[in-house]
Amino acid sequence: MMKNSGSRLTIENTGDGNRSTGGRTLVQASERRRRYISMLLDHPTGRSTAMELSYINLIFGVKFKRSDFLSTHKRMRTAISVPSSVFATPPEDGSIGLLSGMARELGHPAKRHENTCSVVAVANLPRYDKLAKIAEETAMPSPSVTTTLPSGEAVPVLGQGTWMMGEDRSGTADEVAALRLGLDLGVTLIDTAEMYGSGGAEKVVGEAIAGRRDEVFLVSKVLPSNASRNGVIRACEASLKRMHTDRIDLYLLHWRGGVPLAETIAVFEELRQSGKIRHWGVSNFDTDDMEEMSRLSKGKNAQTNQVLYNLTRRGIEFDLMPLCRAGGLPVMAYSPVEQGALADDKGLAAIATRHDATAAQVALAWVMAQPGVIAIPKATRLEHVRQNAAARDIALTAQDLAELDSLFPPPQRKRPLEMI
Ligand code: NAP
Repeated sequence: MMKNSGSRLTIENTGDGNRSTGGRTLVQASERRRRYISMLLDHPTGRSTAMELSYINLIFGVKFKRSDFLSTHKRMRTAISVPSSVFATPPEDGSIGLLSGMARELGHPAKRHENTCSVVAVANLPRYDKLAKIAEETAMPSPSVTTTLPSGEAVPVLGQGTWMMGEDRSGTADEVAALRLGLDLGVTLIDTAEMYGSGGAEKVVGEAIAGRRDEVFLVSKVLPSNASRNGVIRACEASLKRMHTDRIDLYLLHWRGGVPLAETIAVFEELRQSGKIRHWGVSNFDTDDMEEMSRLSKGKNAQTNQVLYNLTRRGIEFDLMPLCRAGGLPVMAYSPVEQGALADDKGLAAIATRHDATAAQVALAWVMAQPGVIAIPKATRLEHVRQNAAARDIALTAQDLAELDSLFPPPQRKRPLEMI
């Protein structure tokens, strides 16, 4: 762990490998990387610049306080003589905004991963020769916080929801911009459904992911009224067309309907074989549905159950969540900020002050702190997108968690699954 002690940054011995904190896996600095970080911090200015902080953040996943960026931002602008437009992205956007802005300014083609752009950009700044060398030797994807699907694939624990998007063409540009900003900030899982905006949300998603499909883990859903064999095939083709893609990463049955589950699962498996979907799962399934599914042939191939879960909707902790965990199935938590209502919660606001954060961010950090849970907040306002991305950096303390339990008590008995 790196920390700011007085005017210098110091590193504590972290050891190698991955470490789990509150359900989050952070990539830790290895011995070699620790040496490199020490070299960086040996900067003649006596303190690392924001650029270096950004870089350390990107490569090693060590997070810094916003104040670290703010205090060095001005100096950095002078130190590396590139036009100020590079820094149009406010520093609170963190390292990715700064570094990718610089890459663009230097005319580097956007590569698949923003970090790669950054590495190239930094390599072109003579003042950062040493940094560039380090970058070359150690570059790796930004250590996003992930959880694992039963298939073994890692998926981010923070995604972007799209319900209410695509309802009105006049909102499209803002919605596309919000989703794209989320991608810039590494929030690469997008959740949508054929139902949202009657296909309009999928069209928005199609625009947002144009040219960057490979960055995205795309989730969509089929309505129960389309859950028959032919219905699913037709619905899936239509979703693919609206999103201008050849595959959906995770295709969910939106909720249980009249079509036998076995029929829907069989066609999901067919679509998987043909590559039109990579994985499938379910949504709004309570324990009885899950148990029924697990008894079906191929039922164990489900990769998630997407359900309502947030501080005010903790019912699933009693039985559904343990059941999913037992099967290694992540829960995808929808409405994680209770459709915005938790942003106004006074109790949360008090805890948020301790983290220099908002109530909504604490609500989100709490969801992400639950092992095997993926949060998919929807945000159209750019400020919300930034805040949600930054919520990944909030590490709730034992005291925070205890206070949250007393404000929002966990369930003591079975409650039927709630839905929105
Ligand atoms: P939500 O994400 O809990 O809340 C969205 C609302 O909160 C929006 O009004 C948004 O405002 C606001 N918000 C977002 N971030 C905020 C922040 N940092 N501070 C303050 N306000 C913030 O609710 P949701 O949209 O119902 O759920 C999320 C996603 O889950 C959906 O979009 C959808 O993809 C999925 N979902 C699935 C199901 C299902 O049956 N499977 C059901 C419901 C939802 P702005 O938009 O103005 O920024």
